[in-house]
Amino acid sequence: MVTSNSAAETDAAVVDQTFANQVLDWFDQHGRHDLPWQQPRSLYRVWLAEVMLQQTQVATVIPYYQNFLEKFPDHTRLARASLDEVLNLWAGLGYYSRARNLHKAAVQIQQQHNGRFPEQFDEVLSLPGIGRSTAGAILAQALGQRHAILDGNVRRVLSRYFEIDGWVGKKPVENALWEKAEACTPDTRCADYTQAMMDLGATVCRRSAPDCPQCPLRQGCRAHRNQRVGELPTPRPKKTLPVKTVRMLLLVNPEGELLLEKRPPTGIWGGLWSFPELVLESDVAQTCEKRWGYQVEAIEDQPGFRHTFSHYHLDITPCRVQLLPTTTAIHEHSEQRWCNLDNYRQCALATPIADILQRNL
Ligand code: SF4
Repeated sequence: MVTSNSAAETDAAVVDQTFANQVLDWFDQHGRHDLPWQQPRSLYRVWLAEVMLQQTQVATVIPYYQNFLEKFPDHTRLARASLDEVLNLWAGLGYYSRARNLHKAAVQIQQQHNGRFPEQFDEVLSLPGIGRSTAGAILAQALGQRHAILDGNVRRVLSRYFEIDGWVGKKPVENALWEKAEACTPDTRCADYTQAMMDLGATVCRRSAPDCPQCPLRQGCRAHRNQRVGELPTPRPKKTLPVKTVRMLLLVNPEGELLLEKRPPTGIWGGLWSFPELVLESDVAQTCEKRWGYQVEAIEDQPGFRHTFSHYHLDITPCRVQLLPTTTAIHEHSEQRWCNLDNYRQCALATPIADILQRNL
């Protein structure tokens, strides 16, 4: 249920202007002014930052952002790159659909916008991987256009300030938050306001242990007044994630190299390199013989571990398989390659796969 307490809002315009002024005054003194995407704030630089920040914290993003910009300083250079190159720079940052969409969007800008980054909200929104909040953040920060944003940080601040109950995954709750986000966004200094709200959520109105005594909004904050800060925002209802299992084959040739295969372009770790997989119950030696014509010398299951995705747990059992010298005839191709200490960094790898590889090379 949404309880925005709108009846108690005597004069929305005054409240909202006060809200923005308090946030902006705080930003001038305490906000972050030297993030790499703030100087200069171009459409491309802000877009790249916003996409990287969608699921990842600032401190983690910064080195990836700088590497990425060095290699692809503008969207034209990004569009000309192969997806492999893009994924390689993204490796370790997770949520790889972001990288695939970024690349797809750069190509789309070349093809549908004559190589110019669009400046209209609907056009930006139609690019792959860009939702309403990200489109607003890009245009507000790069061009100073007035658009509301509602990322995780802003949701937290608004749900507490206006004491909005209910999980944001429910449409009425999301709508109520958007309404407040729109109402609070000022007509001027939109770039600063957008950054200010993100900063306030990240550094003061934190998920745990928010620093209410230092918050510029504490006087009007309903959750603070009613001692409900710890309850808001309402968490996602708990659900038990399903568990899947997989055996990953670490096929080792006589040179000590490990075989990697490229994953399909969509789905988990789409387009990244990984180990061949088979179900736990399968016969390893028989599979090697059937699938690749490999003769097996020794098989050793290694300790398993769990990797959790947003919608399921994956229990991974790495299985090291030493191949007989007769397998030297195994050919590489665009979807399959032998990896050693010299060349494995050229492959885009998800973190768990990189960890297994490093332990076994
Ligand atoms: S007073 Fe506390 S709960 Fe309210 S907005 Fe500020 S930090 Fe968040």
